[in-house]
Amino acid sequence: MKRIIFEIVLVLALAGAGAFGWLNYKSGNANNVKLTETTKQAETADKKIAELTESLEAAKQEIEPLKVKAQELDAVKAAMSSGEVLKDLEAAYKKEKSLSTERQLGLGALRLMTKGSKDPATVEAFKKALEMADWGSRKNVICAAQNALAAAGEKVDVLSECAGATTAKAAANDDKVDDHGKPAAKDGQGDKPEKAGKDAKTGKGTKHAAHWDYEGAMGPENWGKEFPTCARGKSQAPLNIKGPFEKALFAIAPDYKPGPLRIINNGHTIQVNVNPGSKLRIDSMPFELLQFHFHKPSEELIDGKPAAMVVHFVHKNSEGRLAVLGVLLKEGNENPGIKALWAHAPAKEGPEVQPDGVTFNPGNLVPRENEFYSYEGSLTTPPCTEGVRFFILKSQANISREQVEQFPFKKNARPVQPQNGRAIAG
Ligand SMILES: [Zn+2]
Repeated sequence: MKRIIFEIVLVLALAGAGAFGWLNYKSGNANNVKLTETTKQAETADKKIAELTESLEAAKQEIEPLKVKAQELDAVKAAMSSGEVLKDLEAAYKKEKSLSTERQLGLGALRLMTKGSKDPATVEAFKKALEMADWGSRKNVICAAQNALAAAGEKVDVLSECAGATTAKAAANDDKVDDHGKPAAKDGQGDKPEKAGKDAKTGKGTKHAAHWDYEGAMGPENWGKEFPTCARGKSQAPLNIKGPFEKALFAIAPDYKPGPLRIINNGHTIQVNVNPGSKLRIDSMPFELLQFHFHKPSEELIDGKPAAMVVHFVHKNSEGRLAVLGVLLKEGNENPGIKALWAHAPAKEGPEVQPDGVTFNPGNLVPRENEFYSYEGSLTTPPCTEGVRFFILKSQANISREQVEQFPFKKNARPVQPQNGRAIAG
């Protein structure tokens, strides 16, 4: 039952996200409404009405422009149901190379509203969006949608974790991708809030319980309460890598290309999102690099010992199989690749940043020798979905102690998991 309610809320929310995406797109036009501004103005007006009861004339003047806004909102709603919005949005997005999760979701929602659920393009748009989105980003979209709907005067129950957590605009701009670039699995439908964010408008910190964390009540030993696979899975990662090893029967070859640097502090790690074109060949099968991110210390142990950090390169093949290439970072010389990244890594959780004119080649972080340990594992973050192939390079890269200290997380590594008879190649 909870599941059904969740899905209904999601669909409702998606409809709002579509409206929101369209409003963002239209926001350049002076005669269109920004929902967040309207809310703000409405709140201000509410206060003023109370304060200005003695001076009714003055209050009327305040209310008059808001009436106009309300009429504009009605026009927006009418345009949505007529399909004009979908047409506009599709035309606008056609010009862009790739769409963010939130835009993809919005597009799916609009198709649903305009063309109905039987339309194959609707289903495709949703599938694509859900593939891209984990619960964290879905929650952000839901919050954005709920706030937007509420601002538009729709009766909508705003989830407690959405209330005041982020403004609709801030949430909708958050192009968050899961730690392991994995769609939220069936067991990942947690409804607890993400880490507390700062309100983008007021700069005021808001108190929130963490959705999941690396310590405390939401720490790894408790992930299973909300994400059953984390506790019940039999091939969880990371592992303590130790012999005896099986012989690896094939080779891997990273083929990474430079591209615009897109870097995000998602509250759990520093992650670099990668444009299409970089691949890892596993037994000559191509796996597309989606993103890479860091853990401190390394999640994998070699003979019981962690490295200072690890970088996980997350790939997916055309069948949706995930493969993670791990490069352990041992304390030593400064790493020029890391230096380039840390220069732009946001110290606080927030949306992806793409600094002007900065490119990065993920290959700069990968040692030349491709010998590896390999095992079948899982996402090392909730929802801990299994079926992820791990390749941990035997060669380690350097990172200076200073660079380790500059990483804005004190500790973000899941402890090693039971091997449960799994073979490790190496
Ligand atoms: Zn990882």
